[in-house]
Amino acid sequence: MNILVTGGAGFIGSALCRHLAVVPENRVINLDKLTYAGNQASLWEIEDLPNYRFVKGDVCDEALVADLLRAENINRIMHLAAETHVDRSIDGPTTFIESNILGTFRLLQAALKYWRGLSKPEAQNFRFHHVSTDEVFGDLAFDGSMFNERSPYAPSSPYSASKAASDHLVRAWHHTFGLPVVLSNCSNNYGPFHFPEKLVPLVILNALGDKPLPIYGNGANVRDWLYVDDHARALELVAARGKNGESYNIGGDSERSNLCVVETICDILDHKRPRCKDGSYRNLITFVADRPGHDRRYAMDTSKIKRELDWQPQESFETGLAKTIDWYLENDWWWQPIRDRSYWGERLGRPVAA
Ligand code: NAD
Repeated sequence: MNILVTGGAGFIGSALCRHLAVVPENRVINLDKLTYAGNQASLWEIEDLPNYRFVKGDVCDEALVADLLRAENINRIMHLAAETHVDRSIDGPTTFIESNILGTFRLLQAALKYWRGLSKPEAQNFRFHHVSTDEVFGDLAFDGSMFNERSPYAPSSPYSASKAASDHLVRAWHHTFGLPVVLSNCSNNYGPFHFPEKLVPLVILNALGDKPLPIYGNGANVRDWLYVDDHARALELVAARGKNGESYNIGGDSERSNLCVVETICDILDHKRPRCKDGSYRNLITFVADRPGHDRRYAMDTSKIKRELDWQPQESFETGLAKTIDWYLENDWWWQPIRDRSYWGERLGRPVAA
């Protein structure tokens, strides 16, 4: 398989590249713009492998994508490149519209032209996999209901609206032009190499630095959580065996309130790295003004991917979180330059909350 991964220097994309590139039969081409969220250090384990290649570039650059598809004889695109942080989408939505909507459109156009030029067997073997989020479905009440693959779209934030738009474009390119596509919508991921503006790494690193642990509102908002390597395995399955034109929900069967997530991190750290003063890390928890338009609850019905593709998460929330915390304790070489800002160089972006 010759696989083009977009956004492969990001959190999930790098986990996916690491997962795919250890199979020698795969050739993995990673196209990434290296925004503030893209970090080639996350790919150190595979960067010297002969079947891995990094290309710095923008998915909005249709000519570059077209050249890459032809030059590398690509038969699978796994599209993860996106702006992903909800708070940033509220502060400045423009890049979300450009990368997530326009970028997906340009990629689809390049893919369609390329696919039309393939021989019949090559065209039948080609697949465009669009990687998306549960946030496109909007807000659930605290009533046990869950999103399934037929749930109506009702995005609340500029981020989720841009991802919803990109999902619709991908389906339209399938229905109108026949492009072979598959989509997946996943819940919140956590794990190693996660940029420390997102809740789990932010809380781990703030705790280690004895800084406040910020929680929006009263912390009652509920998300489903999935360990990132379980997501990477699911993505490989969906791309390889998902049915043409269909979508698959992916999740960890681990609904937790934000307060519960933060308290669990504190409890694990209290055992692994007891705080020097003032008792438990829980004493650092600080409630801050809620995010505008903050969805109350997301939950995923994942019966389809389990039934059709025989996928199961291997980590529980507690085992995955303990592994994640161990990784941050052992890998300050990766996160310290981000936290002390030496990482930023010429990259633009707002400072990481600390
Ligand atoms: P991330 O922010 O960590 O990484 C995004 C990557 O995309 C970065 O490396 C960035 O440089 C790159 N990128 C951004 N714009 C680009 C462009 N125009 N051209 C080329 N590269 C560009 O994101 P992530 O958390 O790894 O998420 C990856 C994908 O998975 C996204 O599409 C996201 O919507 C989806 N997703 C994420 C989660 C989650 O919990 N993180 C859950 C479900 C779905």
